[in-house]
Amino acid sequence: MRELLPYLRLYKRHWFGLSLGMVLAFATLFAAIGLLTLSGWFIAAAAVAGIAGIATFNYMLPAAGVRGFSIGRTFGRWAERVVSHNATFKLLADLRVSFFRKLAPLVPDQSLNMRDGDLLNRMVADVDAMDHVYLRLISPIVVGVLGVLAISLFLGWFDPTLGLALGLSLLTLLIGLPIVFYRLGKEQGRDQLEQNAATRIALLDWLQGHAELALFGARERYRARIDDSEQAMLNAQAHMARITGLANGVLVAATGLTLVLMIWLAADGVGERMPGAMIAMVAFTTMASFELMMPISAAFQYLGKTLTAAKRLNAITEREPSVPFPSNGHMGPATGAIVFDNVSYQYPGAAHDAVSNISLQITPGQTLALLGRTGCGKSTLLSLLTRAWDPTQGQIHLDGVPLTEWHESALRDAMSVVTQRVDLFNGSLRDNLLLACPHASDSDLAHTLKQVGLARLLDGQGLNAWLGDGGRQLSGGERRRLGIARGLLHPAPIMLLDEPTEGLDVQTEAEILSLLETHCQDKTVIIITHRLVGLEIMDTVCLMDAGQIAEQGTHQSLLDADGRYAQLMRRL
Ligand code: ATP
Ligand code: MG
Repeated sequence: MRELLPYLRLYKRHWFGLSLGMVLAFATLFAAIGLLTLSGWFIAAAAVAGIAGIATFNYMLPAAGVRGFSIGRTFGRWAERVVSHNATFKLLADLRVSFFRKLAPLVPDQSLNMRDGDLLNRMVADVDAMDHVYLRLISPIVVGVLGVLAISLFLGWFDPTLGLALGLSLLTLLIGLPIVFYRLGKEQGRDQLEQNAATRIALLDWLQGHAELALFGARERYRARIDDSEQAMLNAQAHMARITGLANGVLVAATGLTLVLMIWLAADGVGERMPGAMIAMVAFTTMASFELMMPISAAFQYLGKTLTAAKRLNAITEREPSVPFPSNGHMGPATGAIVFDNVSYQYPGAAHDAVSNISLQITPGQTLALLGRTGCGKSTLLSLLTRAWDPTQGQIHLDGVPLTEWHESALRDAMSVVTQRVDLFNGSLRDNLLLACPHASDSDLAHTLKQVGLARLLDGQGLNAWLGDGGRQLSGGERRRLGIARGLLHPAPIMLLDEPTEGLDVQTEAEILSLLETHCQDKTVIIITHRLVGLEIMDTVCLMDAGQIAEQGTHQSLLDADGRYAQLMRRL
């Protein structure tokens, strides 16, 4: 139950709506029970009056009462739904936002190690499951306990034995049912939730990798996996439905038995009176009182599911980000002096350092090229500079301030990054560019697109064209140039480029390189490249090997030294 505590705390903010919802739920229940009780007594009393030939039976008042209760019940139910659902939806919205706030800084965390589908499932389905806590758990229990008390007092007012008998029967059920149905539904509820998540993950995998699966003829095998997990999910659902059926059956049986007991007890008359119409009232009150038991068994049957959802959410919200940014960190602006001081980094679970003992100094306005074989740690070095994760050893300084002391937004403002894998977001071409520079005008965007040779994208729908899933797809080279356009749009004194011209033809590559040269004239630039062109204009060339810097110097000095760099150049 401790899992639910953070969610109960959230209620404080919406206490008014939630409590009003409970008051209205209680009023509705009161009207519903009142309606059945009064009409039961009314019909019986009218019949008795008719048989006895009593001419002065006042039927106006009870008839008005019946109407009043029935209108009250209808209105109460409507108002209760509006108020409590409104409050619950607001609460879920809060929960979703706060969950996302916690999740966002965790995403680069290597040790989070969660599938996209799983995270999505937590964000959507598990948060939704939390509405259960209030709507199906707290509210019915509070209303149930108050209801049992009110009904017992009401009957006890006429006849203490009857009041006590009904009160005890309801109380036994109120305690017994939750225990039984929590145990019955616990495992199945957890299964149901986990199978839901598994199905979603399998389905997302299948959709995302559809082209590859089709090309390698693996579509059917993967499809069968979805079918399997879907079947498991349906089985868990069917099991839950059987438990619900059992719960309803038990309640109907309990109603019947209690009714028999109450009629038997009331057979000699209610209170001091002779047997009469009051017996009907007792019978109907008993029947009506079971209305408040119905939601309680369901609440506990699904409690296991709710607890599992809460646990899955807590696994995210209780995690500290591995890269915490200080809230009142250094604000810049940066000039672009970067120092790597004996920096090493090892990916969690990896056997070796991805980069080790890197020491580098880059002065503002300097350009540095990073070369090296695939997998030697070049991209990792840039990730450390952007604080995707922190070095396992050593420190990186920007403008003499350790990176860990920079405010996140100041650090982002200091660097413009073109990553090795450019991500397109599901949105318009404009959205995809504006993320790098939210205030850019349409003409700025069009100008930048022309600069990177993507003017053709402006044809047709222009900046409104939809990219990504369900929209226009870009070729590998176009994607890369869109990444460069983002890099150009983001105004920052430091430019980090991870193989910006990979996959471009020679002509386009030359154009892009000269564009970058003019754009980056007074910026600090780190460029990772496999292509050994344009290195002579770099201030420093750094050759990396197995996570370490093997050679470092200007193009000319490295050629003169006649080491590995010179060998590489000769091989061209
Ligand atoms: P390339 O030229 O192919 O882009 P790179 O020099 O950029 O290579 P990195 O991406 O820095 O290489 O990777 C360095 C090493 O770290 C590689 O051995 C790689 O397998 C490993 N590595 C990279 N990313 C991760 C990760 N997220 N988790 C574990 N290991 C990783
Ligand atoms: Mg790389």
